[in-house]
Amino acid sequence: MSHHSQDRSRQSRSNQRRRPSAFSGIKLRLIIGGAIVLFSVVSFMNKGEINPVTGQKQRVDMSIQDEISQGMQSVGAMGPPSLNRRAQIHIDQIGFRLVKNLQEMMQQQGIEIPYPFDFHLLARPEINAFALPGGQVFITESLYRALEGSEGRESYEHSARIAGVLGHEIGHVLERHGSERMAKGNLISGIVGAAGVAGGDLNSRSVAAYVGNLANMKYGRADELESDQWGIELMILSHYHPRYLIDVMEVLKTSGGSGPPEFLSTHPSSDTRIAKIKEIIMQNQQKIDQMESQIVLGAN
Ligand SMILES: [Zn+2]
Repeated sequence: MSHHSQDRSRQSRSNQRRRPSAFSGIKLRLIIGGAIVLFSVVSFMNKGEINPVTGQKQRVDMSIQDEISQGMQSVGAMGPPSLNRRAQIHIDQIGFRLVKNLQEMMQQQGIEIPYPFDFHLLARPEINAFALPGGQVFITESLYRALEGSEGRESYEHSARIAGVLGHEIGHVLERHGSERMAKGNLISGIVGAAGVAGGDLNSRSVAAYVGNLANMKYGRADELESDQWGIELMILSHYHPRYLIDVMEVLKTSGGSGPPEFLSTHPSSDTRIAKIKEIIMQNQQKIDQMESQIVLGAN
C-alpha cells in the first residue's frame, strides 16, 4: 500500500514541475489527505489486542496499566465526592459485592480481573453514572436518590437498581469501551482532518465529521447492549433480580434533565434496550428462578 502511494506522490511532484497550476495544488492536497487517511487506518489496524477478560480481539490505544493509572488520576476531576457517608457505604457494599462475585466467576475460568474497581458517589446535580477506563465507577447523588423508588432508601429494590447501574458501568470497563472509543476517535479525527486538507473548506469537513459520528453512534449502540448484558449477569450472580435494570431505564426515561446521562447517551432508544433486556432475562430464566428460590430460603 505504501509503495502505491509513493508512486502517486512521485507522479504528483513531476506534474507540479510541469504545470504549477491551481489544479496540481488540489491534487497535492488530495494526496496528502489520502496519506493521512492511510496512516490513520493503518495505525488503527495495528492496534489489535486480546481483551484478557472477554478474550475478544479489539482495537485499543492504551494498555490496561495506562487505563488504571490514568483513570485513578482523573477521579478528582469528575466532581466533588458526596458528603453522605452512609450512601457512599451503601454504594460500596453493592459495588464490591458485584466485583467479588465477578472475580469468583472469572477465577473458575482461570481469568484474573486486572482492574482495581472503586465506586464513587458524586455530589453533582445531574442524574448520571459513568466509568473511566481502568475501573473507576461513578454515580451521582441525584441518580442515587432517583433510584429509591416508592420502596425507599436502602430497600432491596433500591439496592437492586443501583446494582443494575454499577453492573452496567463495570461492563464498560471489562469491555474496554473507553479505550476502544478513543482508538476509533483517532481514526475518525484522522479521516476528518484529511477531508479538511483535501477539500480545504468547511463543507466537506462537516460531511466527514457527520460520517465519523455515524460510525461512533453504531459502536455506542453495541457498547450499551454489551454493558447491559454484563449488568444483568452481574446482578444475577449477586442475587439482584435483573428486572430492576428495566426500572433504571424507566427512571432515566422520565427524569429528563439537561443532557442525557451516559446510560442513555447513545442509541438504541431506551425502549429498544428494555426489549433487549427482557429478552436476556428470558434467556436466563432458569438461573433467575434458582436465584429467587435461594433468596426465599434466606441463603442470600
Ligand atoms: Zn453505558
